[in-house]
Amino acid sequence: MTRETKGKETCTNAKAVPDATPKGILVPLKTTLETRARGSLLDVYVTSVPVKQASGALEVIRRLLPGDGGVDLQHLRRFAKARDVPDAVREAFERARVEVLGATELLLIVGSTNAISSAVVAEELSVIVNDAVIFSIQVPRLAPTSQEQATLWSSQYWPTVYKKSNPFGPHPSIVSRTEQEIHGEVGKWMDLASEVARQADGTGSGETVGVVIVERKNGIGHPVAVAGDARWVGWPSKGAGNVTAHAALRAIAMVADGVKATSESAQTFNAVSASVTQPEFKADPADQDHFDLSGTVAGYLCHDLEIYCTHEPCVMCSMAILHSRFGKVIFQYRMPKTGGMCADGDLGHGLFWRKELNWTLLAWQWIRSSNGQSFELADFHA
Ligand SMILES: [Zn+2]
Repeated sequence: MTRETKGKETCTNAKAVPDATPKGILVPLKTTLETRARGSLLDVYVTSVPVKQASGALEVIRRLLPGDGGVDLQHLRRFAKARDVPDAVREAFERARVEVLGATELLLIVGSTNAISSAVVAEELSVIVNDAVIFSIQVPRLAPTSQEQATLWSSQYWPTVYKKSNPFGPHPSIVSRTEQEIHGEVGKWMDLASEVARQADGTGSGETVGVVIVERKNGIGHPVAVAGDARWVGWPSKGAGNVTAHAALRAIAMVADGVKATSESAQTFNAVSASVTQPEFKADPADQDHFDLSGTVAGYLCHDLEIYCTHEPCVMCSMAILHSRFGKVIFQYRMPKTGGMCADGDLGHGLFWRKELNWTLLAWQWIRSSNGQSFELADFHA
């Protein structure tokens, strides 16, 4: 592995950067709320109103259903021209209409069908609109989280507005800004995590899982802990292994222990072909020093740090990552059966962003581009 990139990189540890930093894309994880919001629909009444009576009709509805009866409809256009709604809505209107829709007429969302009856709406509107046509349609219950989703919903349900915000997860601008910040380094840290994973497997000490914890100062990442899985150390001759010696937990313990990789050792790690002697690898993963927090160690030691994992952390490690107050988690392989981070895996916990737990951790899957080097890692508990 050559180190000819010196000078090409602007970061101070440029020597440590392999000349072909693998490329890939970062895919932000969906939160549980986003995942749920995807299919959640609400039945609403829609009425047709002449343009001239539009504001009067809306006033009547606002009086009738203050605050839209507690249902947030901000993501939906309140009025839509009949020609601008999806076919299904137009067909529902055709079935309900009692007279020809004039070119000047508008369709207006009244409110949730749970909040009021159509008879009451018709009676109240009759003051303003003669023979109001009232029918019900289904609309997305929650706001879209991307322009693509808004466009899709507009074609399926009702004209929908994307407000460049995400009420169900991290703000899109924070996600994209952070992606720009870390994108160039992800391949490097993931390679290092993979190398440690290979060692864990090669030495028989653990599963093929590796983790790198990175601290970012002035935009430049520095590794502060590197750990491979170690659950099988000593097994079977010296006991049953250590069920908690997962790579993420070990790396967190190293940070807590003050075991920090220096920039020199980082260079060692990055020389992938050189022998990596697991400088951060504790001989005995059952070493209670890692886990003895009595008195000496302050909490939240990983505040704002980045954790790069070969695999989606399991539920145990995900909770440890949350409790440690990491800022970012990036993993390469999803673990649908055991992973704790994804909301759309088999477990569906979506632990990276749960309002009862945490509002600040950002999480991505990193998908290595096809021309980058890759190696297969078996499917197991990470
Ligand atoms: Zn784990």
